Amino acid sequence: YKGGIRYHPSVTRDEVIALSGWMTIKTAVVSLPMGGAKGGIALDPRAHSEAELERITRAYATELRPFVGPDRDIPAPDVNTGQREMNWFKDTYETLEDTVAPGVITGKAVSAGGSEGRVEATGRSTMLAAREAFDYLDRDLDGATVAVQGYGNAGSVAARLLDAQGATVVAVSDSSGAVYDPDGLDAAAVKRFKTETGSVTGFGAPSELTNEELLTLDVDLLVPAALENAIDARIARDVAADVIVETANGPLTPDADDVLGDRDVLIVPDILANAGGVTVSYFEWVQNRQRFYWTEEKVNEELERHITNGFDDMIQA
Ligand code: GLU
Repeated sequence: YKGGIRYHPSVTRDEVIALSGWMTIKTAVVSLPMGGAKGGIALDPRAHSEAELERITRAYATELRPFVGPDRDIPAPDVNTGQREMNWFKDTYETLEDTVAPGVITGKAVSAGGSEGRVEATGRSTMLAAREAFDYLDRDLDGATVAVQGYGNAGSVAARLLDAQGATVVAVSDSSGAVYDPDGLDAAAVKRFKTETGSVTGFGAPSELTNEELLTLDVDLLVPAALENAIDARIARDVAADVIVETANGPLTPDADDVLGDRDVLIVPDILANAGGVTVSYFEWVQNRQRFYWTEEKVNEELERHITNGFDDMIQA
């Protein structure tokens, strides 16, 4: 089984079950030989010191030890977790098992057995899915305008890679609000600002918007990359984008899906669009087992193959 571990105050058992379900379908869409799983801790990581987070993560790994393993259930990062937490988890598991088993968890730092390209993988699949969707519609991604809701790992990498494809990222947001520049934002500079200050607002863009205003901006491409249920039927009626690439897990409610479907908005679902993360996690696991590590070029090449094949399969389905 495969899936990430989330640290967020709103984590519930039901949410973890739903997210596991999405992982089950996602791994199938991109042809990975694994089922779906998920984990979570209901906590606000900003309210804890690094030492506390380390103790919490190591305690969690200790409790999960009977249920995980390189041939059983292999966790990974999700909302508010990353290389640091994965390294703690791996180290705890290996210490307790008295073995070397980097394949027990993925999303580790490269120095701890992680894969090249893993940090960027989710955002990269968003970019690839957007590229395929625009191709399918016979439209150019080069010059398209983009709004990105959520500026964590997935959203910020997607913004940077879409920008590199020639798209113009006009608005990005996080839980503090959105920044908007009709001439285009410097996606990397906004990320640096958020890393330094904790939020995107205050970046100095010509205007600031609410998250809802961002979601209803008249752009070519909308990338919801925050949490589930960000767009409900009411907001969907005002969405002005032609293409939505779901980068968060479950950012559209089922009602919103219906509204947007009726309006012919092309939606690339999360189970394909954000599947880059779990795909490169799978590559990491393969490399861990083989003790043979790939170049970033090879990782990105294999990732592109899985996402474009998945896109073609999706269109056919
Ligand atoms: N948390 C990511 C997802 O929702 C990645 C899971 C993984 O790498 O196993 O797909």
